[in-house]
Amino acid sequence: MSEFLIENVIDPGGVACSVGVAAGKFVDPSQLSSKAKRIAGKGRFIAPGLVDLHTHLREPGREDAETVLSGSQAAIAGGFTAISAMPNTSPIADTAGVVEQVFRLGRAHGLCEVVPIGAVTVGQAGAQLAELIAMHQSEARVRIFSDDGHCVWDPLIMRRALEYVKQFDGIIAQHAQDPRLTHESQMNEGVVSSRLGLKGWPAAAEESIIARDILLADHVGSRLHICHLTTERGVELVRWGKARGIRVTAEVTPHHLLLTDELAQTYDPVYKVNPPLRTERDVMALREGVADGTIDIIATDHAPHPTESKECEWQSAAFGMVGLETALSVSFLALVKSGLMKWEELIDRMSIAPCQIAGYANQGSLAVGDSANFLIFDPNESWLVETSALRSKSKNTPFAGMELPGRVVATAFNGSFVYGEAGL
Ligand SMILES: [Zn+2]
Repeated sequence: MSEFLIENVIDPGGVACSVGVAAGKFVDPSQLSSKAKRIAGKGRFIAPGLVDLHTHLREPGREDAETVLSGSQAAIAGGFTAISAMPNTSPIADTAGVVEQVFRLGRAHGLCEVVPIGAVTVGQAGAQLAELIAMHQSEARVRIFSDDGHCVWDPLIMRRALEYVKQFDGIIAQHAQDPRLTHESQMNEGVVSSRLGLKGWPAAAEESIIARDILLADHVGSRLHICHLTTERGVELVRWGKARGIRVTAEVTPHHLLLTDELAQTYDPVYKVNPPLRTERDVMALREGVADGTIDIIATDHAPHPTESKECEWQSAAFGMVGLETALSVSFLALVKSGLMKWEELIDRMSIAPCQIAGYANQGSLAVGDSANFLIFDPNESWLVETSALRSKSKNTPFAGMELPGRVVATAFNGSFVYGEAGL
């Protein structure tokens, strides 16, 4: 089906419209031929496909947890048409060869755009800068670099990394976690960690790195992105940096917008995540930060782990949660259903703003002439999260058994339906 017309859909601004697609692009409906298939939109929402700047795909090296293919399948089920693959694979994506491998796998599967993120340091060991320029000049055209999973802790290495990527307007995406302050930490440091006797992870361990790196980004005049912000003061620091014109952007995950550290009381490792779930007060500050634009984007930090890494004692369980398939409904619940934000603003934070930050040319738009990457969402439906139904190879979702509002009905990539009901 290369040519079709979706009738009676609502665009992000709330306007009823019909959307034409031909040869992979959006076209004006008047330009469609008489052969174009007509699809009833039934008053559902149409939006540009979601863009995730923080996905762990585990290939190469841990294909038992996720592959580029299974991660792409999970992505399109969640309404994503572009995902950015974090480099903490095995081998680590710290060379042009590995990022090109991931890029080519994504393109060969053809379900969504897969854009590799390169490591900042060799082996993500924090000691020596990786081949940033070579990765950027490779076929994968890497523009974002991160040692995610680890913090770029050495301030001199961080400064040099910011200086290198400035040459091509690249970005360093920082996993802000002071390793000395979080050694063997298991959860947020606070009332609950004291009660449970689990080693705590102070908010200051995250905030001190955010503060330092905002100052370094200012000094160098380069672009800094803060991964998965989780604390109230972290939001304040980003707000401070932006007010001074410093080139800092930030993301928050859907799970940090909904869940708190109280859940650790279950001792269920499905709630063990890095950075940890924080307090109700932090959750509210994060929601306000997304609503007022201090936090630019929502990113999933989709972190698949095989069952044996999660179904064990809390202390020995892996950190992380899968999130691609639940991201839109969880964010819709936390931000739109709560009355804090409009649907249009949510689509900005999950599609348009991440697309602008990363510079993706073929995403984040419903405009005539642009690539037809979009989703159809029914705001009136709800769905029960069942682990057996997840497309991801890993099932470590904290939302299992929850009824979530709104449902992705279909996803189209380059003008073809890749998920859901093409007939809607
Ligand atoms: Zn991280």
